[in-house]
Amino acid sequence: MRVAILSQNSKLYSTARLVEALEIRKHKARVINPLRCYMDVTSTKPEIHYRGEEVLRNFDAVIPRIGASITFYGLAVLRQLELMGLHSLNSSDGFARARDKLHSLQLLSKSNIGLPTTAFARAADDIDDIIKIVGGPPLIVKLIEGTQGKGVVLAETTKAAASVIQAFQELDANILVQEFIKEAAGADLRCFVVGNQVVAAMQRKAREGEFRANLHRGATASIAELTEEEQNTAVQAAKIMGLGVAGVDILRSSRGPLVLEINASPGLEGIEKTTGVDVAGKIVEYLEKKVIRREHKGQKNQKASA
Ligand code: ADP
Ligand code: MG
Repeated sequence: MRVAILSQNSKLYSTARLVEALEIRKHKARVINPLRCYMDVTSTKPEIHYRGEEVLRNFDAVIPRIGASITFYGLAVLRQLELMGLHSLNSSDGFARARDKLHSLQLLSKSNIGLPTTAFARAADDIDDIIKIVGGPPLIVKLIEGTQGKGVVLAETTKAAASVIQAFQELDANILVQEFIKEAAGADLRCFVVGNQVVAAMQRKAREGEFRANLHRGATASIAELTEEEQNTAVQAAKIMGLGVAGVDILRSSRGPLVLEINASPGLEGIEKTTGVDVAGKIVEYLEKKVIRREHKGQKNQKASA
């Protein structure tokens, strides 16, 4: 296969590992910075230009590693590559859904997947009601498009909750208000889903005095043994989002596993170093199957129309 990896930096651990895993399996890998791509979106033959010189053709597949700060442009590039006939490891649609925590929860809520009770509001008049919906304090307020725990606040009293919600609203930020899952005790599970299985899982534990289990916030990671229910929850959640590869974050609660968020471009460093699993290799093997199946279908269709 010839695979384009959409990534801003080939030196990033995840990007470098994917290149390595592709090359070990005799595939061609090329790292493409999505911000350096530009495209003629009106052409009947969709194309994309890179660094002024070259038209990206003859790729079979694309692995999107689009950072949160460039979601809008990165997704536009990914859609264009899909229009050109490349198979994307995660489709642009699935990717876009996962970037929006509210949309993700709405999709998941239609299934029987466990979720923390969550409310969403825009108007300041509704704050008291919102606090009631999620069962009162302590509660969590979080930015819809936050990452690395940055926009996640724990409010322990109604007063604190109301002022945090108000502050976010005055900044015009879109927020979710969520039941605080105390039993999780500052830990969460990162379940790395590839296709129909969880290929690796780790537990992240917040450091002393912190409730957020983000590695960027100093949390520590260890290998996690998942129950069957947890595995099924993670695989189902990724499927509902339309993602072949996903990092599904789960909280262990007294009413079973609750899905917190789903990452369409999950990092490889933490999970590989913690579990020792060759996750990059699993991703490439999954992509191989998808691309080969697509080629077979294409050939069949050609024969049928011949
Ligand atoms: P981010 O995208 O910034 O990582 P998350 O929703 O994953 O945002 O929240 C960051 C961390 O905060 C989680 O990993 C978890 O440890 C903690 N957390 C978030 N929501 C809750 C909740 N409702 N109850 C308990 N802990 C939570
Ligand atoms: Mg998170």
